[in-house]
Amino acid sequence: MNKFEQLGLNESLLKAINDLGFENPSEVQEKAIPLLLEKDTDIVALAQTGTGKTAAFGFPLIQKIDPENRNTQALILSPTRELCLQITNEIKLYSKYIKGINTVAVYGGASITEQARDIKRGAQIIVATPGRMQDMINRGLVDVSKIDFCILDEADEMLNMGFYDDIVNILSTSPDDKSTWLFSATMPQEVARIAKEFMRKPLEITVGHKNSGSSTVSHEFYLVNARDRYEALKRLADANPDIFSVVFCRTKRDTQAVAEKLIEDGYNAAALHGDLSQAQRDSVMKSFRNRQIQMLVATDVAARGIDVDSITHVVNYQLPDEIETYNHRSGRTGRAGKLGTSIVIITKSELRKISAIERIIQQKFQEKTIPSGIEICE
Ligand code: ADP
Ligand code: MG
Repeated sequence: MNKFEQLGLNESLLKAINDLGFENPSEVQEKAIPLLLEKDTDIVALAQTGTGKTAAFGFPLIQKIDPENRNTQALILSPTRELCLQITNEIKLYSKYIKGINTVAVYGGASITEQARDIKRGAQIIVATPGRMQDMINRGLVDVSKIDFCILDEADEMLNMGFYDDIVNILSTSPDDKSTWLFSATMPQEVARIAKEFMRKPLEITVGHKNSGSSTVSHEFYLVNARDRYEALKRLADANPDIFSVVFCRTKRDTQAVAEKLIEDGYNAAALHGDLSQAQRDSVMKSFRNRQIQMLVATDVAARGIDVDSITHVVNYQLPDEIETYNHRSGRTGRAGKLGTSIVIITKSELRKISAIERIIQQKFQEKTIPSGIEICE
């Protein structure tokens, strides 16, 4: 008997897990799955990014869904369309040996009528961004009056993005006796407030240290003159020919500009930001997953929650405005036990931010120098 069997999962799920190649449950899965299977409870689960939270709620949820009943039974809220699509794919993989479970993704930037039609055909599980979900509820396109489960995934990121009101509305319009499962990497005040006001005595599961970064990630900074940022990025790429990375910029404009320059200079790069159409974003993500793109230049919003295997480097081309966001950026690497490096390209005037970040991630940065070529560091 492997450890997944001991958690109480059924044959169909165990077969799917076997296909996925998961050998043993991660810590958050080991703690959450038996609890969610056995009890009708609300739960708050805090675990760093990359610890397998999707399966921690996905497996027990699928086991609890009634495939014969075509009503919407579960609503999973998640911060971005990319993440909605990713969770939907995962849920489909987990439930592939169970007939009759339909999962539909609902998010902005795509046809609301098509999404409504897909739901009408019978979707037991809806995976939605809060904004689009609220919109569909307002227009009477979806019925959440019979849901048994509401899952808030990446709750801290959803609240960071300003979805507090939508989440509260959705939680209030759905049945009082549903179970609410909240998954988050960190527990900022707004998350605590939701747990306190909208959940019934939630059980709390914590994996690792609250608010701490992942120990599989090492953090480095490179001190450069502002005008040398781009040159520094190129040198880093040259020094790491197998680099597979997300390069974060602060604005859509910078994201587009850096990606264009990289492409012009012969690197496998592409931009991901909110000004692209949904089709463009999907195609960029597909090429990135297939490794046709080595450097995905992205804004924070576009890259939120993206889980692509084996990202070697996260590059902070510019630091985020909110230093808490650094945690989410660096969480793109070092996932599922693999090692990764998070790099900050920084100028002298921003240097004090490093110690603020160190306090948040509870890890120290190493100062590095830009590899070879003419001296570009101060
Ligand atoms: P989180 O939501 O906590 O950031 P994800 O659910 O996105 O993490 O999972 C991160 C990665 O780990 C995914 O690629 C997933 O397929 C993989 N993973 C999840 N659980 C396991 C497991 N038990 N064994 C091996 N890999 C796993
Ligand atoms: Mg997740």
